[in-house]
Amino acid sequence: VSGVWDLLDEINRFGARGPREVERIAWTRPEIEARAWLAERCRERGLEVSLDEAGNVWALPPGAEAAVIMGSHLDTVPHAGRFDGALGIAAALAALPEGEESGAGGAGLVCFTDEEGVRFGLGMTGSRAVAGLLDDDEVARAVDRDGAALAEVLRQEGYDPARVTAASARRRQMSAYLELHVEQGRRLERAGVALGVVGSIAGLAHVKVEVRGETNHAGTTAPEDRRDALVPVASLVLAAQRTMAAGEDLVATVGDVSVPGGAPNVIPGRAACVLDVRSPRAERLERALATIIAAGRDAAEANGCSLEASEVKRFAPVAMDGRAVEALTDAAATEGGEPVLLTSMAGHDAMNLARAEVPCGMLFVRSRGGVSHSPEEWSSREDCEAGARALRRAAAALARRV
Ligand SMILES: [Zn+2]
Repeated sequence: VSGVWDLLDEINRFGARGPREVERIAWTRPEIEARAWLAERCRERGLEVSLDEAGNVWALPPGAEAAVIMGSHLDTVPHAGRFDGALGIAAALAALPEGEESGAGGAGLVCFTDEEGVRFGLGMTGSRAVAGLLDDDEVARAVDRDGAALAEVLRQEGYDPARVTAASARRRQMSAYLELHVEQGRRLERAGVALGVVGSIAGLAHVKVEVRGETNHAGTTAPEDRRDALVPVASLVLAAQRTMAAGEDLVATVGDVSVPGGAPNVIPGRAACVLDVRSPRAERLERALATIIAAGRDAAEANGCSLEASEVKRFAPVAMDGRAVEALTDAAATEGGEPVLLTSMAGHDAMNLARAEVPCGMLFVRSRGGVSHSPEEWSSREDCEAGARALRRAAAALARRV
């Protein structure tokens, strides 16, 4: 398939910030314009194009009620690179069947809105709406940093915020969903392979931990009189690191730490953090969570503090569809060399659809240095082209089976 690289260039004109930096945050001008551009490109190719109640762009072969749908997202994080999401859309466009193959049995395309969840703090909003996993309340309550309500933004763009979840009716248009995405890790690079096939998407737990100790003078409070609330949080950070082992499919991170009212000369009386643990194995995830929290509790007790842990987010691991994995594995072997079977440690739209029983498959393209969510994000032109060819091949093979 030629054209994926040029299509990627075209997409990245929307929200361009520099030679490698783009920013298309969901429901901002560049992202809305990029979706309109995509709809136009699909119309030019003779597909039936529509936008659903959530703003997802759909393109189906003329006359088809359902099809194997290829897709990804066009929104990005702030100061993003050129590949996350955009490559999946460019590849899907490049992989659309042409000529005789483009009839009712051909593949279609979808672009899901607000995958990254940057502006309104929701995340995977479009795919959750389609999967029936989005609540009207979430849409009604969502507000950005500047106080702008998602509902208001939707109204301005011609959408009815009370009808976003009605996009779930589109689910029946998908006989299967295939997404090509950059790996955002180094496993393919280490294996020396261009393409990888995702077997499952890791489960995730976010646990908010709040510690209470006693605020006091950093100079005059004796060691034995201190109830420093940050110490148990520090224990959690170290326990999270200890829980991970090289080569194992479990990761644990504390990326959000706060000391309310903190000052250099004050012993923290309160501290909070959010623990992020991921693994494709549910029981391994559970054990790691318990171990890390226990380390925090021990440290809290030893330091005269109280610790409260509450789960704020939880996704169970999900498996990709067996037929999709097989079609992608065969296609990747033909186009990119023997592929590696991987677990996705990042969440993707496919995990929502898989949970809603849409047969899903994901193809990863090698990321240089494993860097992502950064202008340094890069995949080679050859790898991207091999990925797009494999996607096209897999979609055609899968269309014969679902
Ligand atoms: Zn992405």
